[in-house]
Amino acid sequence: MKLDATDLRYITSDEFRVLTAVEMGSKNHEVVPTVLIVKISGLRNGGVNKLLGSLAKRNLVSRVQNARYDGYRLTYGGYDYLAMRALSKRDSVYSVGNQIGVGKESDIYIVADKEGQEMVLKLHRLGRISFRAIKSKRDYMGKRKSASWMYLSRLSAEKEYAFMKVLYEHDFPVPRPVDQARHCILMEFIDAYPLRQIADIPSPGALYSELMDLIVRFARAGLIHGDFNEFNILIRRETGKPVVIDFPQMVSTSHKNAEWYFNRDVECIRRFFKRRFRYESSIYPRFRSIKSEKSGDGSEEWHLDLVVAASGYNQGEQKVLEEYMDNYLQEQARAGSDEESEGSGEGDEDADEEEFEEASSEEDGEVDEAASDKGQQEADGEAEDV
Ligand code: ADP
Ligand code: MG
Repeated sequence: MKLDATDLRYITSDEFRVLTAVEMGSKNHEVVPTVLIVKISGLRNGGVNKLLGSLAKRNLVSRVQNARYDGYRLTYGGYDYLAMRALSKRDSVYSVGNQIGVGKESDIYIVADKEGQEMVLKLHRLGRISFRAIKSKRDYMGKRKSASWMYLSRLSAEKEYAFMKVLYEHDFPVPRPVDQARHCILMEFIDAYPLRQIADIPSPGALYSELMDLIVRFARAGLIHGDFNEFNILIRRETGKPVVIDFPQMVSTSHKNAEWYFNRDVECIRRFFKRRFRYESSIYPRFRSIKSEKSGDGSEEWHLDLVVAASGYNQGEQKVLEEYMDNYLQEQARAGSDEESEGSGEGDEDADEEEFEEASSEEDGEVDEAASDKGQQEADGEAEDV
């Protein structure tokens, strides 16, 4: 789905009011009844219908007619719009440039502020690929299940932003976080290549140690990245130094599966270095020895997990995301041990492209599933949703 920044400046205040009403109604309704939109917006009935029509034309909402009632759903586009408008209102974003990535669960754009300073905008898109995981866990979605993609995407952005902030403040090599709104985060642009794209380096051993040291440093600070792999490690073009990104799945070292996550991170690096650089080392960190270390070594970094927890993001809500992530990772581990070895197989240089294709081709199907969550028979407009 394309972000349309030009539209941002041309919405009337009544249209905005109606769009916001649809968003509010989405908290409890898969399809927000038109009567409810009228009520929330506080505008005249006839007027609202017209405004909904023009919002639908711009794909910010989509009309759904079913047996029971007439209503509208906020689209990805509408949610993007609301987030972008918030970011632009507070002068964090002025213009939107190229899309530079379609991740498994995100879209990445280059954007700029008024001064032309380039930044990276990450739009979280949970529920696009792994909707199965949520569907099997409807219970704890509670009322929210109706807006699960929106809700989970926002939780994911809030979590990523909270972690990035604390990590950045403690001098971890991560992008500088700039702002966050709804399912979007804004951060420093890193002039770098993902490790995945690097065919050769002068000294693999040095980078290997640096990355393992980083895993250890995270763990000493009470954190495990949880997806520490060649896609989420950027290598600075100028210095060759690693920068770590992608934090929605971070877990605390006191998480019940902490050791499993930790070993997985370590293994990802070992496996990649072996395959890509033919570099193998018998030295790698063990979770238990880190856990058993005594503090008091002057490190002020202990328990960043608690620092993040105390930073004000909603822990209760985050439990939903945590279960989703757990579920997703476990599912990945089960189904994907073969997928993974395929993905990073020797000479398999297009694996990331394959992954990207998969992301976009599955998009429609998965969103459809989301849409039919309540068993509604959809009339039209699905394709424009995404
Ligand atoms: P996902 O959660 O979808 O994997 P990531 O946060 O890993 O999303 O970002 C996907 C890709 O976007 C990265 O592999 C990288 O190429 C690019 N990217 C993300 N953040 C930045 C950044 N701050 N600077 C430069 N490139 C970035
Ligand atoms: Mg990533």
